[in-house]
Amino acid sequence: MTKYPEEKYREKVTTINPPVYSGSTVLFESCEDLWRACEGTYPGIVYGTDRMPTQREFEEKLRALEGGFATRAFQSGISAICNTLLAFVQAGDHVLVCENVYGPTAAFCRKILTKYNVEIEFIPAAIGEGVGDYLKDNTRLIFLESPGSNTFEIQDLRTITQAVTGKDIVTVLDNTWATPLYLNPFELGVDVSIHSVTKYISGHSDILLGTASVNSKYAEQFIEYYKTLELFASPQDCYLALRGLQTLAVRMKQHESSALRLARWLESESCVEKVIHPGLPSHPQHDLWNRDFSGSSGLFAFTLAGGVSPEKIAEFVNELKLFGIGFSWGGFKSLITAGAYVRNTNPELSGKMLIRLNVGLEDVDELEADLRKGFEVL
Ligand SMILES: *Cc1c(COP(=O)(O)O)cnc(C)c1O
Repeated sequence: MTKYPEEKYREKVTTINPPVYSGSTVLFESCEDLWRACEGTYPGIVYGTDRMPTQREFEEKLRALEGGFATRAFQSGISAICNTLLAFVQAGDHVLVCENVYGPTAAFCRKILTKYNVEIEFIPAAIGEGVGDYLKDNTRLIFLESPGSNTFEIQDLRTITQAVTGKDIVTVLDNTWATPLYLNPFELGVDVSIHSVTKYISGHSDILLGTASVNSKYAEQFIEYYKTLELFASPQDCYLALRGLQTLAVRMKQHESSALRLARWLESESCVEKVIHPGLPSHPQHDLWNRDFSGSSGLFAFTLAGGVSPEKIAEFVNELKLFGIGFSWGGFKSLITAGAYVRNTNPELSGKMLIRLNVGLEDVDELEADLRKGFEVL
């Protein structure tokens, strides 16, 4: 007889999707097993923070899809970012951060890492060969986001990773925009690839989750950090992310085609000054995008012609029926935001009011009609 009789209610049932295990305590069969767990020789999962089965399955599927050596899940994308930085840097290090990174990433570097005597230097948003000029003896990590999720500059990842080959400098890429399907960072020599799973991978705007995948060179250090902090992700959220992965490819095709259709149409509209979408030939780093990416997602931006006032832009945004007004992206519902971003190294876009669209899975003709109607107020 089993030591734990309640197990009889947990007969083996084979569903397509995995069960969700919620738990802090994991029960052992014997005192000897408990001792093995204390010694670190127990083969199974020992505690709720030891990455429950649903988390492990999600991590493994994402790892395999992206081609990393190991993947760990975090409670959010920003948590994956902050913890990756903390796992690899220490006092006295110099860290390069691309100027177009997600705002909270830059804020963490500026406000928190500097408290621990880490020197932060921002580098141009479309950097490539020039990266060599910024390297110092104590440069430890380069944080990239390509394309940046607001102004969409692309970095020459291949050239950057080649410039640091043989050095002990970790290259980290926030790969959220492209998803694991449209860019393979490890083929380009990147050491760590991060995703806000909150966006396309989960795909339904109902959870927050993040991942970091590392290559073999940095796996040990990263896993040790994750284990020591007893980091983990919610089993329920990992379940939803796993489910999201199953439909990622079909959703991405639709996001891609609808966004490109709207981007091309917007380029032909007289009230639009500029469409900023890496998949369009008009994008300054379109050739680079063509070389490294195998597709585009549904997030892009545009500016309006003729010095439209912020009040008018607000009127336009408020007029839309299908585009929700809200942060985040990657879900089935189309969203819109408008704002100005400081880009010292991209004066053409710096300070300009950018209107950003998250093109969702609605009928694209209806989305276009909604924007057309909105333009009437301009
Ligand atoms: C949203 C986002 C993040 C943060 O993800 P959360 O899961 O919301 O914490 C990180 N990077 C990029 C590019 C993002 O768009």
